[in-house]
Formats: sequence, structure tokens, C-alpha cells
Amino acid sequence: MMHGTDPIADALSADFAGRILRATDDDYDDARRIWNGHIDRKPALIAQCSGPADVAAAVRVAREHNVAASVRGGGHAVAGYALCDGGMVIDMSPMTGARVDPVRRTVRVEGGCLNSHLDRETQAYGLAATSGIVSHTGVGGLTLGGGIGHLMRKHGLAIDSLLSCDVVTADGHKVIASEHEHPDLFWGLRGGGGNFGVVTAFEFQLHPVGPIVLAGMLAWPLEQAPEVLQLLRRLAEEAPEALGMMANLRLAPPLPIIPEHLHGQPIVALVVCYAGPIDDGEELLKDVRRFGNPVLDAIGPKPYVAHQKMFDPALPHGLHYYWKSHKLPALSDDLIGVITDHAARVTSPLTTIPIFTQGGAVARVPDESTAYANRDAAHDINIVAAWRPDDENPERHISWARGFFAALEPYSKGLYVNFIGDDPAARVRQAAYGPAKWDRLVALKDVYDPTNFFRLNANIPPSTDAVERAFRLPA
Ligand SMILES: Cc1cc2nc3c(=O)[nH]c(=O)nc-3n(C[C@H](O)[C@H](O)[C@H](O)COP(=O)(O)OP(=O)(O)OC[C@H]3O[C@@H](n4cnc5c(N)ncnc54)[C@H](O)[C@@H]3O)c2cc1C
Repeated sequence: MMHGTDPIADALSADFAGRILRATDDDYDDARRIWNGHIDRKPALIAQCSGPADVAAAVRVAREHNVAASVRGGGHAVAGYALCDGGMVIDMSPMTGARVDPVRRTVRVEGGCLNSHLDRETQAYGLAATSGIVSHTGVGGLTLGGGIGHLMRKHGLAIDSLLSCDVVTADGHKVIASEHEHPDLFWGLRGGGGNFGVVTAFEFQLHPVGPIVLAGMLAWPLEQAPEVLQLLRRLAEEAPEALGMMANLRLAPPLPIIPEHLHGQPIVALVVCYAGPIDDGEELLKDVRRFGNPVLDAIGPKPYVAHQKMFDPALPHGLHYYWKSHKLPALSDDLIGVITDHAARVTSPLTTIPIFTQGGAVARVPDESTAYANRDAAHDINIVAAWRPDDENPERHISWARGFFAALEPYSKGLYVNFIGDDPAARVRQAAYGPAKWDRLVALKDVYDPTNFFRLNANIPPSTDAVERAFRLPA
């Protein structure tokens, strides 16, 4: 890129090893594209970091020049937190290194890694940590919000296996956060999102998994959803923790594994992943696979990494997305009625409604030990409305999602911070964290980021006192 006309780009390029992109650069439009095609923001500058020193330089320059900065991990936050209009994007996407220590059974991944990087390197040793169910999601945002996935009932959330983080704080310093160093910061990073700094590396404890697991999907016509969701309720209560499970309701997509006559038909699916010996899983799932004569049984032994990519084609980059989400209690018959009723009125063949199942190891971790809240919820429903960019009436998808969300409100057990869309700030405070955690998070923000430099996120603003102190000029 050309310099000489932009004091911020010039200041940064004096101490930056990665690429600095501006609107006049050929790759600029590619670099500002994120997963949700609905978001179209034009940053003044994209700082593609090659390592922690670049991250620290970008933070320092943005602060010195009073420029708004967003931090981009995998670019999957539906609200588009990764991008800003007119400011600087601190882009972690080039930082995808991962190194497994097979003796300690740990992995160290850089802050721009995707789930696919984490899974690929760890599975080479038959090891894994909980990561999300779509391989192109960023480990950064996913972990900092908690991290739910197929392995969570057995191995907990992503944060429950987190050992340490390398962090660049708002003043541009590099610190390590773990149970032993900056434990207050480590508490906040486990659920508090990107509010406290840029994580340049995550270190996870790994667990033996696969590499071949018994996993896949069963599907039934949507009319059978009440019985299938009752089955999910029973499995959530009774099945061993090794069984990861979720439901998914949608119009069947035209994928090769789905018989052609079902394409476009409303279905309810049960997706399972047994993190234990294949034979035990086969025995456990024998009756489930016969339940109500499923129209599709795609369960079988397969590589864990293949299962982790199963949803990738259904949630591609570039569609327009709008989400609403609740954490939910055990699925009562009433609640099942609300879910099936609204799923039957879905407005788009691209929309999908995953219902994750928590419990097990997630629920066993004491609630106060991390910033992540609502560990006692049984499920997490995400109403993922999706449509093509040329759809002439997107409002109908948005109002369907809002209606569904409102009907679930009486059952809500809170909100998973990583599924926040256009939710108001009050919902972040009350539903994602609750008053006790919120106060602790604000106190932490006062210490680590009193000017709210990291504010393009599910924001936890510092207290007014801290802001006044931070901006007070020396006498
Ligand atoms: C297709 C899809 C599937 C998903 N599946 C799951 C799932 O299975 N389980 C689950 O728990 N969640 C899931 N999510 C939600 C996901 O966890 C959030 O969207 C998360 O914010 C994505 O992180 P990211 O790094 O990709 O996004 P980004 O938009 O890049 O970042 C999200 C937030 O995290 C901050 N951030 C990112 N990286 C860093 C870093 N290294 N240091 C500091 N701050 C950082 C950003 O500033 C931003 O505020 C899914 C999302 C999508 C779109």
C-alpha cells in the first residue's frame, strides 16, 4: 500500500510487520467481508497482524490517534463486531498457528485460529477440546464467550479446558492470564467476550477423543417434532455425558446425505456425537435410532473432524443472517408446543433452528468460577433466520424470528453472550450475566480498560468514576 497521506497508517507502518490495508488496496473488499453478508462496514484501515507485537502496535497507535478499533477473530459475530466504520480493524486472521504438546496433552493456538485449525492439529494426536459445531467459526470469539459444542456434556465448555491466555491489554502491554497470573483477568476472559484485551494465544487442556467417533443425524418429518423433542428431554436427563446431542428444526436442505424427496420439507433432526467407545455408543443409540421410524439415519462411525464440518454447508459465508436466542429450561410439553408451532411457520429454506443441550460437565462447574452465566440452563436455542442477499422482502424473516423469540420469552433462562444479535444493552447486563457477575465484570473493566477502548463487542462499559479518572488531565 501507499503511505505518506495518512498519519495513522504511517504511524503504524513504522512498527508493523503484517499488512496494512486501506480502501484503495485491491484486497480491501475481501478483507472487510465477514460471515454475515448483511454487515457492510468500511474501516479506514485494516491492520492484518502477524504476531503479538503487531497487535500491541495496533492498539497503541489506535489509542494515540483516538481511533475506534474493532478486533476481528473469525468474523462470525452476527452483529458484525469484527468490523467498524471509519476506524481500525485489528485483524487476527493471519495468526492461525497451533502447536500441540502431546505429553502434557495441551494445545496453544494463536488468536486468529478457526475451529478447523484447532480440530485438525489436535485430532492428529487423537485429542480434542470443546469447539463449536461449524468449522469456520473463530476460536477467539467463541472461547471468550464460553464455547458450546458437541463435546460439552463430557468435557465442558471451551473455557472449562482453557489453561491460559496471552493478552494485549488496552494500554498495549502483553500479559499472561491464568489461574496463577492475573487470575482476575482470567476469570473475566472466560465468558466476558472481547472486553478486556486482545488474546493473541489460547492454551487448552486436551482430552482423548476419536479420532473416529459414532456421530451423525437422525431426521423425522416436522409433525413428529413433539415426540422427538420429548425424546431429547429424556436423553438430556438420562443419557451418559459422553453423548453430545442437539436438535435442529428447518426445511430440509438439498444436501447429498438427505434423500431428494425430503428436500424443502420441514423436518426435525437429532444430531448426536458419542465421545467414547464406538460399541458403547452403538448400544446406547440402538433404541433412539428406531424411535418413530426416522426418514433419515446418517449415524455411523466417522472422523470427529468430519462431524465438526457437518453443518458447514448449511451456514455459509455471505448469506444475510438475523439471530434471536434464549437459554431454555428442560423442554416441557408447553415449550415444545411453542417451538414446533413457530418452526412450522418458518419463512425461508435457509433458516435453521439449532437447540443445543447443555448439562453434564457444563453444569458441574461452579457458576461463580467464570464469567460465563446460566450454566444451569438445559438448552440453548438459536433462531437463525437466513436469506439470500437479493431477497426482496427480508423483513418477513426478521419479524418471524422476533415473533418466535417473543413467544419463548416466558420460558427464558437467559442469553448466551455469543448468540447476541441486535439485543439491547440491558439484555446483555441482565440476561447474559445478571447483576452479581455484571458488577464484577464492570470492576474488572475499570482496572483493565477504563476508557472502554474495547467497546465494539457485547459491551461491558466501565463505571462512570473510572471513565472520569481515566480521562482526567494531570494537574
Ligand atoms: C456459523 C456459526 C456457527 C456457530 N456455532 C457456534 C457453536 O457451535 N458454539 C458456540 O459457542 N458459538 C457458536 N457460534 C457463535 C460464535 O461463538 C460467535 O459468533 C463468536 O463471536 C464468533 O467468534 P469469531 O472470532 O468468529 O467472531 P468475531 O466476529 O471475529 O469476534 C467476535 C467477538 O470476539 C472478539 N474477539 C475475537 N477474537 C478475539 C481475540 N483473539 N481476542 C480478543 N477478542 C476477540 C471480537 O472483538 C468480537 O467482539 C457460531 C457462530 C456462527 C456464525
